[in-house]
Amino acid sequence: MPGTNLTRDEAATRAALLDVTSYTVELDLTTGEKTFGSTTTLEFSCREPGASTFADLVDATVHEITLNGRSLDPATAYADSRIALDGLEADNVLVVRADCTYSHTGEGLHRFVDPADQRVYLYSQFEVPDARRVFTTFEQPDLKSSFTFQVTAPEHWKVVSNSPTPQPEPAGNGAAVWRFEPTVRMSTYITAIVAGEYHEVLDTYEGKFGTIPLGHYCRQSLVEHMDTEELVRTTKQSFGFFEEKFDFPYPFGKYDQLYVPEYNMGAMENAGCVTLRDEYLPRSRQPRSFYEFRTSVITHEMAHMWFGNLVTMKWWDDLWLNESFAEWACYWCEAEATDFTDAWTGFANARKQTGYRADQLPSTHPIAADNVDLHAVEVNFDMITYAKGASVLKQLVAWVGLEPFVAGLRQYFKDHAFGNATFDDLLAALERSSGRELQGWAREWLQTAGVNTLRPSFELDDEGRYTSFTVEQSAPADYPTLRRHRLGIGLYDAEPGEAGTERLVRRHYLEVDVEGASTAVAELVGKRQPALLLLNDEDHAYAKIRLDERSLDTAVTGLSRLDDSLARALVWGATWDMTRDAELPARDFVRLVLANIGTETDSWGVTRIPVSAAMAVNLYSDPGSRAELRAEWEAGLRELLLAAEPASDHQLTFARAYAGAARSEAGLADLEALLDGSLQVEGLVVDQDLRWTLITGLAAGGRFGDAQIDAELERDRTISGQEKAAAARVAQPTAEAKALGWEAIMDPATPNETSREMVLSIFRAGQDEVVAPYLEKYLDAAGTLIDTLGFHKASIVLEHGFPKALASPELVDRVEQWLAATDAPKAAQRYAREGVADVVRALDAQACDTRAAGA
Ligand SMILES: [Zn+2]
Repeated sequence: MPGTNLTRDEAATRAALLDVTSYTVELDLTTGEKTFGSTTTLEFSCREPGASTFADLVDATVHEITLNGRSLDPATAYADSRIALDGLEADNVLVVRADCTYSHTGEGLHRFVDPADQRVYLYSQFEVPDARRVFTTFEQPDLKSSFTFQVTAPEHWKVVSNSPTPQPEPAGNGAAVWRFEPTVRMSTYITAIVAGEYHEVLDTYEGKFGTIPLGHYCRQSLVEHMDTEELVRTTKQSFGFFEEKFDFPYPFGKYDQLYVPEYNMGAMENAGCVTLRDEYLPRSRQPRSFYEFRTSVITHEMAHMWFGNLVTMKWWDDLWLNESFAEWACYWCEAEATDFTDAWTGFANARKQTGYRADQLPSTHPIAADNVDLHAVEVNFDMITYAKGASVLKQLVAWVGLEPFVAGLRQYFKDHAFGNATFDDLLAALERSSGRELQGWAREWLQTAGVNTLRPSFELDDEGRYTSFTVEQSAPADYPTLRRHRLGIGLYDAEPGEAGTERLVRRHYLEVDVEGASTAVAELVGKRQPALLLLNDEDHAYAKIRLDERSLDTAVTGLSRLDDSLARALVWGATWDMTRDAELPARDFVRLVLANIGTETDSWGVTRIPVSAAMAVNLYSDPGSRAELRAEWEAGLRELLLAAEPASDHQLTFARAYAGAARSEAGLADLEALLDGSLQVEGLVVDQDLRWTLITGLAAGGRFGDAQIDAELERDRTISGQEKAAAARVAQPTAEAKALGWEAIMDPATPNETSREMVLSIFRAGQDEVVAPYLEKYLDAAGTLIDTLGFHKASIVLEHGFPKALASPELVDRVEQWLAATDAPKAAQRYAREGVADVVRALDAQACDTRAAGA
């Protein structure tokens, strides 16, 4: 039984048989709150008349199937999410009339009623295989077609799709019909329908290839928070950049960006009809990193219009390439065409870290995954796909050079426009444009998993000059591949700065090709040892780097003396890796952060590094002295908060971190005083989201209960308020709060985003007693969760609901025993395996910190 699966072989067979001419999709959105009408007319030709195939349709009530005028009985022809099609002719017309189901999981056609004003909002989300939840499809990326949507909806709605929005025609009873023009050829997964009482703002972009109409949309209750001018500016900057670099006109006519509720991901690159999570229109103050990230999302989706939508992968094997490319291109565009010129530093401080982390989990896999079917896509779609992939493309650009890389891309777009291609096609184009052989590079980087570690090794003469210098490369035992790296090396010395200060200034920089276990760097022999030697300076490489003893000492005693933000990001990254790898005690990392974060200038650095430090405190520190380290962390954050420049991002970040860390009586009293205004910090506005952050801290500390949370919800009757209140409730350190929270998380009726907020809040450090029963509950649920909650919601629970805070050798034994015996789905086992690996890592790091605590 295929269920909702589809194999690569089945897709290849179907693609060899069929050519799809057109889809006409009639949707009736006026038939109720649970289902909608969906009639699909599919015209396609068949290369072998008489042959059989199937169409896809999920979770539908099928009323009528007609193939070439022949009526098929839905009771027999529609089974197991497929419609069997036999006796095909050379040219075929399939008509399927059905009712499909609205979703509340963010997959298919999601329906949302805004609690603020009861208005209705719908949006579709189809990648990877969910167009078939809304209409009848051949659900695979290489059966491209033209699509004609006709949508019947309440006449006062907006309806947006891939083609420009037509004038609606009255259809009686307060309804209207929108007849969209046929689209250019595209894959099913980038088609889209967004409908509801959306607010609309129109604009136009005048580019080198002509005019592109722009639309921005959001819910009515968010209108005041949509900073359209800024969004339009970013959109125009990005169009200017990509049209110039790709040298190919934007292929989809108009460009709408719709900010939609309860969205699972950041955004989706539907052709000309991009959907984005509407948390990107913040009602409260956000730090610069928030806007930096939002800009990268906007540029990421736009990059897909060419890479992914114009030229599309043949099968999901190349999904990594689709995402890695958009990821790499979005930072490239952001750094060169928008205000966020230091976007690559942000990449190093935040996104790239998620790639390193994913690559050291037991679930790591080669970037180019072997996706034999849709289930394999589900397990292989992660931060290897995005963050590691983008890092490795960045290394590829360093390897072939940016200009040849862009020249190869341009040719690739011209050669495969409106069609499908594979990674080999791209590689061939890049080999031609660069003259470099890339097959070997691709094998080493894309078809193997794991991250290498690079460390300096050297000898010095009596005067402190290098007499030998090598870069040592190692690999984890399970993934022993050593790779070729284009690597920058920076030598930094202390020099007097302004007003008696001291700066770390780069004296020398070189680039070398590292290969094998040991690479001698002759150029450094005879050079004076610097105060700080930084491998991977400029961050071209994807590798963990280590600091030698002197460099580590320089970093720890004054990281903020280093002026270059990217160099600092590499030091932050190196020290964090060393902490995670039990080579640097957690307390040293925490103190490094407390001493230097106040002067960090990179927006992502300021936001992310305190999150790592909190993890070091709560998970990686010596359990015997953790209480003291927690107190030190709490007190340090309080000091940073009070010392921060008024109204700065630092101040906001430290306020949030302090709310998360404050557990002492005095600390909780501070949170309460900030909330009621009796404690004022100059420049710090306690707005609605910061109020929820403080309330959650107070709830986690046992100071606030349901009464205070209910009272806040009275003030904030928005969906965001409901989600934050749910998170605050489950944060309370009581058995009852955890039980009610877990029940809601297990309930399919709980909306996706509400569930996510609860999962991220429920199992907190320092609440061991009330969290303890949930390891067994987690393992019990793991077998059925994907079935009961849907894939996306279940994945969030399985990934973030693993109670890591209970780290102990007993937990490791118990989960390993469970893994050996369970028949839970692979995706569920994957998250349990990851959870246990995180715990093993934590126990090692704790032992390292225990040694330091005793010293
Ligand atoms: Zn993407």
